[in-house]
Amino acid sequence: MVNLPFSGHTNPTLGLAKVFVELGHHVSYINAPDWKEKIERTGATFISYDDYPDTLSPSQKEIKSWSAAYQTVQRIGANFDCLIYEMLFLPGKALAEQLGVPTFRLFSTFTLNEKVLYDFGRTGGWYMTAIFRYPRLCRLFSKVIKKKFGLRYGDIVKEMVYNAPNLNFTYTIRDFQIYPDEFSDTHYKYVGPAISDRVEQEFDFSEMTKPIIYISLGTLLNTSAAFFRKCIDAFRDEPVSVIISIGKTVKKEQLGEIPDNIFIYPFVPQLKVLKRASLFITHGGMNSVNEALYYGTPMLVIPVGNDQPRVAQQIEDLHLGKYLKRKTLTPTILKDNAKEILQDMSYKESIMPFQKKSQAAGGNAAIAEMILTELSHIAEV
Ligand code: UDP
Repeated sequence: MVNLPFSGHTNPTLGLAKVFVELGHHVSYINAPDWKEKIERTGATFISYDDYPDTLSPSQKEIKSWSAAYQTVQRIGANFDCLIYEMLFLPGKALAEQLGVPTFRLFSTFTLNEKVLYDFGRTGGWYMTAIFRYPRLCRLFSKVIKKKFGLRYGDIVKEMVYNAPNLNFTYTIRDFQIYPDEFSDTHYKYVGPAISDRVEQEFDFSEMTKPIIYISLGTLLNTSAAFFRKCIDAFRDEPVSVIISIGKTVKKEQLGEIPDNIFIYPFVPQLKVLKRASLFITHGGMNSVNEALYYGTPMLVIPVGNDQPRVAQQIEDLHLGKYLKRKTLTPTILKDNAKEILQDMSYKESIMPFQKKSQAAGGNAAIAEMILTELSHIAEV
């Protein structure tokens, strides 16, 4: 397995390594040194990127991770029976062909095609996905990396869409996918969120009364203390308990006086919390959203960028919650919309079939089974 060192992309795949190991297979997982401990906990062998000096700054490391991952797979990939990569590692398919090994792709966001990528570019703000808004810029960038990574196409969008492995797996359910009819059922499989293999700490709910509102902006774009202050103001006099996961950048001291009904943590066992929460106020990270679908928790989505605004739109379109714009957000808007979702049972009713399907979708165990079946067919030929 190989991945880029971003938590949203690596986290869901860890359970897949674990499932394979438990089935008696050998897994080597290539990633950045920061992931060593988490990867080794799955029972897989951790392999650090080649040529990835610790002296690089965090942003230099991000850029370097593509070529470092590529180089490492190129060096050792031919020793394995297959290569499993997450979609962000764009050269995965081309590289596996070069090495002569079967390959499988995982999607931690929606399954991607030109339309989905264009939507991300159009709505995702000035983040990584902005490149898909400008086809000419995208082609220029593609030319630079085509040669470096031995891609088949001189366009990264085409590479992603047309140089695809035979089997691709997405960590959501088909009902949540945008443009689902554009993807063949034979090659694109939906397995729901990676949940059953996750081990979480205990969480103390004893001081809390229902309804519980859970607030998180995920683990990356979560640096706005102003946003968390608005949440505190919105719910300070309300008959609700509010759990806020503020992340590691914002400090509790920056948030002013915290009322008794609001509970602040740098990190919470999100699955345990979602199971009890009546409403999830989220940035719309695909992992968080899929987890909320799994537990049937309606959402208020306040996206930051990348795929999140499109995810927010999909939640609103399917009546699983509402999309609120960050720029115009006030404590009153938050409070009124939270009340609406808590009181209008139609949101809960809409999400129930998503919950049922997510829980039955199979997660990483289903991926492992399909990969092993495919490998045994390949071996027979
Ligand atoms: N998460 C968690 N506890 C927290 C905050 C986040 O367990 O307090 C987990 C959450 O369950 C999800 C991941 O971190 O699996 C966040 O991924 P997502 O794609 O939602 O957002 P990102 O962090 O990539 O922006």
